[in-house]
Amino acid sequence: MVLTLNMKKFFKIFIIFIFSIIVLCFGLFFIGKNYGDKLLCIYADNLYTKKEYSSAYSIYDVICTYKPENTEYQYKLTKCLLKMPFSYSVQKKLIEIAQKDDNSSAEKLATKNILKTRQKIYKKYGETYIEDAVNNGIILRWSKKSFPLKYYIEPSNIVPDYYFKETENAFQDWQRESDNFIKFIPVQNEINADISIKFRTILTENLNNKENYKAAITTPVIENENLLKKMEISCTIKTHEYEFFTPKQIKKIMEHEIGHALGIWGHPKDNQSIMYYSLDNPYDYYEKRIDTAIISKDIKTIKLLYILAPDITNNINDLANKEQFLYLPLLLYPLDNSQEELILKAQEMLKEHPDDLGYALTLADTYNANGKYKESIYLMKFLTMQTNNTKLLNILNYNIANNYISLKDFDNALLYAQKALIYSKAIDNRILVAYIKYCKGDLEKAEKEFLLILENNPSFTNASLGLADIYIKQKKYIKARKVLKELLEHNPHALDDKSLNTYKMLTVF
Ligand SMILES: [Zn+2]
Repeated sequence: MVLTLNMKKFFKIFIIFIFSIIVLCFGLFFIGKNYGDKLLCIYADNLYTKKEYSSAYSIYDVICTYKPENTEYQYKLTKCLLKMPFSYSVQKKLIEIAQKDDNSSAEKLATKNILKTRQKIYKKYGETYIEDAVNNGIILRWSKKSFPLKYYIEPSNIVPDYYFKETENAFQDWQRESDNFIKFIPVQNEINADISIKFRTILTENLNNKENYKAAITTPVIENENLLKKMEISCTIKTHEYEFFTPKQIKKIMEHEIGHALGIWGHPKDNQSIMYYSLDNPYDYYEKRIDTAIISKDIKTIKLLYILAPDITNNINDLANKEQFLYLPLLLYPLDNSQEELILKAQEMLKEHPDDLGYALTLADTYNANGKYKESIYLMKFLTMQTNNTKLLNILNYNIANNYISLKDFDNALLYAQKALIYSKAIDNRILVAYIKYCKGDLEKAEKEFLLILENNPSFTNASLGLADIYIKQKKYIKARKVLKELLEHNPHALDDKSLNTYKMLTVF
């Protein structure tokens, strides 16, 4: 009896205890839910006043993740960010805030500071064509620590002796014009070389085909997706009229290719620059453009390129530690995003260069590279109305379709891909249409299209991969494997293609 009474008492106390714990938990939860951010903010403000900016930042960051709609917290976070060392991650975060386009005080503050930094950089580096130097927003260059770069010229008895001397001169010209910012040394062994130069007859085979003629090409050798091993320059031995290049021509060709090998992957519109290249006339740069030279704009562009964070480079430390470098969108990210302003800018560009939509196209590309697909589409639709050139209309519609794919608007993507197909029956356009059908889930239609493409063009890697993807999705692994096997038979180099890595398993077994 006594025991039971005690037990009852104990039970009562136990119940009260549990109840109190529950009430306490609810209380804490209530306070945390409603006032937690405010308490944390007071703490972060305190750290900010004590100038402990990076600690304050981490807390503001937590609060902002928890309450993303609160503009006051966003503003405080941005203000704090601007007090921190202007590292790569800080720049990246600033761009992220500016990208929101929500017209908040945080976005305005970020935008203002990005513009200020830009002005500072432009003032320091002068006029460059950095927007044309990067390839789709990718920085592929050597590490500055690797200078002097070692180059190797493969001996050959199919070209006149002056080809070698002029190639050497081309390297020296870059070094001299850059005041030794860029440095080269020759090596006698290809294995040690960063840049190799080879004279080949193979490129001359397309002499009669103006579209395919290329005086020289520079190819980066990349390992593990982002480690640069070498730049290979292949130069054809003759002009399209089957004559040897003159000494001056071969030097200009080499200077241009060395520019690519240094990391300038595009071509500026300035026809004084050694990196100028006209799409309309591939012979330009040994015929008419013989007057181009390494100008100060080229050197300034290289200097700016070498403070930008590389995506692909030869030094692992530079890849791992980006904080020391500049974040590319900080320079190129388009900040004036109202669509009227866009059109005005494009119109201005077209007024200045009426035959050249290139300026406006570059702008559209920049929007695309920065994830501003709607702006890019808007601008390109405007450009389609400014031209009758079918080649351009093809490119514009193709790009509009790709932007719609990025927006996952596959109906519009298909509409514009089909428009591109009207202007050109190029296989790229057909692959695009098939791919969009695949994205829309029309696997049967997509399969049919890919099969049709492959019937006449069996070595088209993208079509094979698309078809294999469909079979994999349908769990028809044997069929997928067959497609990939056939691809490798027609195109043994397809294995070098990065996009094929995920399929390797299927090709091996
Ligand atoms: Zn080029």
